[in-house]
Amino acid sequence: MKSGWIERDAEAMVARGATSGVERDLALRVYTTRLLGRDPKLVLHGGGNTSLKTRMGDAFGEEVEVLRVKASGADMATIEPAGLPAVRLEALRKLRALAAIADEDLVGIERAHLIDPAAPDPSVEIMLHAFLPHKFIDHTHATAALSLIDQPDGEARCAEVYKDRIAFVPYLMPGFGLAKTAIEVFERAGACEGLILSKHGIVTFGDTARDAYERMIALVSLAEDFIARRRKAVAVAVALPAARNVAALIEVAPIVRGACSEKDAAIEGAWRRLIGEFRSNDAIMKLIENNSLGRLSESGVITPDHTIRTKNWPLVLPPPDPGKLDAFARASREAAARFTARYRAYFARHNARVGGLKRALDPLPRVVLVPGLGLFGLGRSKQEAMIAADIAEAWVEGVSDAELIGRFESISEAEMFDCEYWPLEQKKLGARREPPLAGQIAAVTGAAGAIGAATAQAFAAAGAEVALLDVNFAAANEQAKMIGPTALAVACDVTDAASVQAAFAAIATAFGGVDIVVSNAGAAWQGRIGEVDEAVLRKSFELNFYGHQRVAQAAVKIMLAQGTGGCLLFNVSKQAVNPGRDFGPYGVPKAALLALMRQYALDYGADGIRANAVNADRIRSGLLTQDMIAARAKARGVSEKDYMSGNLLGREVTADDVAQAFLHQALALKTTADVTTVDGGNIAAAMR
Ligand SMILES: [Zn+2]
Repeated sequence: MKSGWIERDAEAMVARGATSGVERDLALRVYTTRLLGRDPKLVLHGGGNTSLKTRMGDAFGEEVEVLRVKASGADMATIEPAGLPAVRLEALRKLRALAAIADEDLVGIERAHLIDPAAPDPSVEIMLHAFLPHKFIDHTHATAALSLIDQPDGEARCAEVYKDRIAFVPYLMPGFGLAKTAIEVFERAGACEGLILSKHGIVTFGDTARDAYERMIALVSLAEDFIARRRKAVAVAVALPAARNVAALIEVAPIVRGACSEKDAAIEGAWRRLIGEFRSNDAIMKLIENNSLGRLSESGVITPDHTIRTKNWPLVLPPPDPGKLDAFARASREAAARFTARYRAYFARHNARVGGLKRALDPLPRVVLVPGLGLFGLGRSKQEAMIAADIAEAWVEGVSDAELIGRFESISEAEMFDCEYWPLEQKKLGARREPPLAGQIAAVTGAAGAIGAATAQAFAAAGAEVALLDVNFAAANEQAKMIGPTALAVACDVTDAASVQAAFAAIATAFGGVDIVVSNAGAAWQGRIGEVDEAVLRKSFELNFYGHQRVAQAAVKIMLAQGTGGCLLFNVSKQAVNPGRDFGPYGVPKAALLALMRQYALDYGADGIRANAVNADRIRSGLLTQDMIAARAKARGVSEKDYMSGNLLGREVTADDVAQAFLHQALALKTTADVTTVDGGNIAAAMR
């Protein structure tokens, strides 16, 4: 591991800070915090923290000694000075006299002594920083250090690698007790460069930001070098396993995702689902094929705070034999059911031990290992799934290297429960209310058009992960970028079966499956039906009927593999029930589409797959352009405004109104074979 310190960058940070009144030490504290935070081998997703002891003026203009410590859950890679709230140090130091203190009391005291009362909560490890005397303190969960200390004889391994450069603190749950023990160990040890927190991480300190940082790099490098020497010595034993013949990811992912879902006990027809993030590399494959995988997968996480992201154990599935996917699906569901039953028993056992007042988290796995394929991180959003996958990869590395050194050992199940259900850890996840479509994946065709784009936005706002399919990839990609980093743009020509197959394969690869499809792509052709060229009619049927059939068929295949129901939504035009003169080439396939929707509702209702349609009219879009609006208004002798709002309510209907109707249908769990009319009112076009 190389030092990332660049003098020029450090001084630039100091100079930039000076322009906004940030003192030199704080600017350098921010600089090295970012250096640590951007290396995933040191710090992952809110783990790790840093601090600075300095002086500053309080609200009364009095200069006081403060501890500036990273805020709880803050991202070290992008931290700003405000991400290191300042707490009066004297008050924190006094706490050392206490034998113990309740978490809520400690948080109350911390908050009462913030210089800025509106600052975020300080790190849960604040007391460790407060009790140690050093000006700069860095704490990471460096993977190499964890491989060394997640051992039955971790203390001896540390002594072997670090001699007396570092003092060893036995395992205690993070918080006040650990801070008290750590300062006692430090005072006994005397001169040292840092501390090892058993089964948890590493701390370094110094008089300058650079000292503390360079010590972290040097001490973690010693662990890395030690592991590298061991790897060289046993290279033959860890050769890559022979490749297995397994089913393709696009077939396996929906089965895994379905197995790792649960029926919602409170709402009939609802499921608790997760989004997937797939990873595969040599290190993952080696660990999955390791003869000790059974033991390792039961051993726990590499550092306690990972448990809130990945739970304590991964789910291990059998290899997905390509010819026997039904058997794989059955075995996967059974394995997932064993996992959730075990998690519930774990919760009940330890909740009883601590007084029975905790609320259980959902019991679904967050990491799934599939032999021959790789691993899935799972989460209620793509973002959470990616975090789970990152931590799973760190687990693979940490555990594999620990096994090279000796035998991987984590903390006990009871200790893990205490961390997983520690209110201060749970706080990191936020107390947010989940949006209604959290955990669901929605695909929208024709997503670059007005209605498609509005629909993708509405579903994303409701918490779904969205895939935007359009024949114009660049335009779909523009829309996806506006929605957010996890929105997926996919090139898809719905008139081409191979293109539709490829698009749904891309969705299943990116998210693990699909739950909602808004089949929206369409275009209008005109002609008097008795005289129209058959080629025109066929072209319209290709897009306005077969396009929907291809999309629905591809989606249903994935939905059946998941076994958690689903929702097909079709954009049917008013033309389906109230034909317009000379619009036969458009209206006739749309009438067939209405029948198609009802057929899906009938044939797949028993599988929990719903099919509904929205019947919209007169929406500004690619089908009804500004020129067409002007021409039609002129032909009827009305203003454009009156033409657009020429309905019973006298209100113009927008693409957003159509999007909200689709969203409503997606959420109406007992509605299928329904047509929702969104046209401002038109009795001639009303459903009958
Ligand atoms: Zn820690």
